[in-house]
Amino acid sequence: MTEAGVRTTCPYCGVGCGVIARPDGSIVGDPEHPANRGRLCSKGSALAETLADEDRLTHPLLHGRRVSWNEALDLVAERFAAVIAEHGPDAVAFYVSGQCLTEDYYVANKLMKGFIGSANIDTNSRLCMASTVAGHGRAFGADVVPGIYDDLEEADLVVLVGSNAAWCHPVLHRRLLAAKARRGTRIVTIDPRRTAACEEADLHLALAPGSDVALLAGLIVHLADHDALDRAWLDAHASGLEETLATARTTAGDLDRVAAITGLARSDIALFYDWFATTPRTVTAFSQGVNQSSAGTDKVNAIINCHLATGRIGKPGAGPFSLTGQPNAMGGREVGGLANQLAAHGRFDDPIDVERVRAFWRAPNLATRPGLKAVEMFEAVRDGRIKALWIVATNPAASLPRAQRVREALEACPFVVVSDCWPTDTTALADLVLPAAGWGEKDGTVTNSERRLSRQRPFRKPPGEAKADWWILAQVARRMGWDEAFAWNGPAAIFREHATLSAMLNAGRRPFDLGALATLDSAAYDALEPCRWPLPAGAASEGGRLFAAGGFPTPDGRARLVPTPFRPPAQQPDAERPLLLNTGRVRDQWHTMTRTGRVPKLLAHIGAPTATLAPGDAARLGIADGGLVRLTSADGSLVLHAAVSATQREGEVFVPMHWTHAFASAGPVARLVGAACDPVSGQPELKATPVAAEPVAIR
Ligand code: SF4
Repeated sequence: MTEAGVRTTCPYCGVGCGVIARPDGSIVGDPEHPANRGRLCSKGSALAETLADEDRLTHPLLHGRRVSWNEALDLVAERFAAVIAEHGPDAVAFYVSGQCLTEDYYVANKLMKGFIGSANIDTNSRLCMASTVAGHGRAFGADVVPGIYDDLEEADLVVLVGSNAAWCHPVLHRRLLAAKARRGTRIVTIDPRRTAACEEADLHLALAPGSDVALLAGLIVHLADHDALDRAWLDAHASGLEETLATARTTAGDLDRVAAITGLARSDIALFYDWFATTPRTVTAFSQGVNQSSAGTDKVNAIINCHLATGRIGKPGAGPFSLTGQPNAMGGREVGGLANQLAAHGRFDDPIDVERVRAFWRAPNLATRPGLKAVEMFEAVRDGRIKALWIVATNPAASLPRAQRVREALEACPFVVVSDCWPTDTTALADLVLPAAGWGEKDGTVTNSERRLSRQRPFRKPPGEAKADWWILAQVARRMGWDEAFAWNGPAAIFREHATLSAMLNAGRRPFDLGALATLDSAAYDALEPCRWPLPAGAASEGGRLFAAGGFPTPDGRARLVPTPFRPPAQQPDAERPLLLNTGRVRDQWHTMTRTGRVPKLLAHIGAPTATLAPGDAARLGIADGGLVRLTSADGSLVLHAAVSATQREGEVFVPMHWTHAFASAGPVARLVGAACDPVSGQPELKATPVAAEPVAIR
């Protein structure tokens, strides 16, 4: 730590703000970090208050009994090896997290896919970004984000789809509002709820849940019918326009049909279409309202279609822009942390990628087909196909859909290992709990929503015997007999290997420059300034945007417009369960509250979970503001306080995702969420579960 402090990166959302941990214990925004330029939101400003060692996991615990690291690591290696020997590699699995650093992710992915020989490693980013990953792959040929944060400040129109950026990406939203004040940027929000992001919007389209594809189908038809397509750009750089338009016309032939599906006023739809058609500098930013849907991948492609059709991609102030939820969702995607990814943007269905990864890792057992995605994985645990499971830095017993089934799966699984910093709903169900080093203690890199890679640097010692996740994973790999391949001396060496693999795998095949960081020595890694990665091939500096001149990583170098037929949410309300349950974040909490739930001032904003209902629904059901309400889905029920608000659309109820058994006796809302997933991405539909609501008498 220097006199000024240690420069590191906020561990919460995908904005990826730089922070400085000062010697006096305070934590402030880093004025030199390009993501935030010194600003922090309420969560980032309270980081110093999350660092107490109180309640931390400090020693390995086997069924609650303290054991040595040697005993714990030997046990993991022996139990996983025994299951693999008896039942094959697909009988084991890892479930990891967007909280993991890129180096942690790399080691876990290499161990499972390269050496154990299964692709049964998935991440909680499946709940967050999987639909975008799939949509990017279909449109661009690889999962890369073309936009950068500056685009939000250089646009004349910013469309926020399914994104309460004011609460979920607050510093980025503040940059957008500053641009609006400076240059008059128009903002359109597309969201069933009137969220905080709608307050400064010029137009809020409170569409029916899940009707985004119909609205966007109407948009691309409008663009075609009003001579707003960029035919020259399409001829040079993209394919699929005619099929996409034909499908869109079937879905949304005219404004009346779009209005009927979306529930929006014709005049509002027409205004939005006109603004989009006549504003070349348009950014469409989207988040979980798009991704967490059984039609999530189609929603992503419907957005990208409109940008490809107008040539608005890779240009200043123009592009589709996915806002990632977690601090390292993007880094995890870059190493191949999802069960359907190989490594370093490589694909299982590309024989050259498979052979290059096999040769680079000298992998004895490289997996050659995708593994089980998160929801499938826990079903496989529940029905006994998976017999040993290692969970790293995430809390699926409280966050996965049908959380009660996840709990049952963990109780039934013969061997469950959980690495984490604090006790959680999930550690309570583990056979072996491993104490992990946390934020401020770990050393590595993260990548934010604009592909900006930043260092997370340590500035305090881990409590007790807590260890870095990469070290724990590598120690187990070495005990399983793969000593040489996992013998790194620190995160710099792991990062170098990851960067070298990325450069080698993509060389000559994808138009990115991934080689710039492959030669970093340890000192350069320590001193690494925030930088975007990958760069466009041949870019002299990080200023260049991907796809500015086309050159997509598809076999013919052209992007694809993808036909997206409209499908409503998989489960529809009925007489028994007449409301649709939507889940999401609140401003001052993070995930299952293991850190933010310990900070009194963050609980002052919203201190308990509520079910927010529209006034008409509340009156009809006899539910009072502040009274108790029981929500019942096909999978469970939950009693919590009601909030009655006109921000809520009739027919819907919103409950925050954060509160678990540890923070609210009722338990997590995920226990109500149904099993539906997007058929392409495997992302669960966390925003449209039919429920019944009834008042509960307070005694
Ligand atoms: Fe941290 Fe996100 Fe807030 Fe920035 S906007 S301080 S990254 S939570």
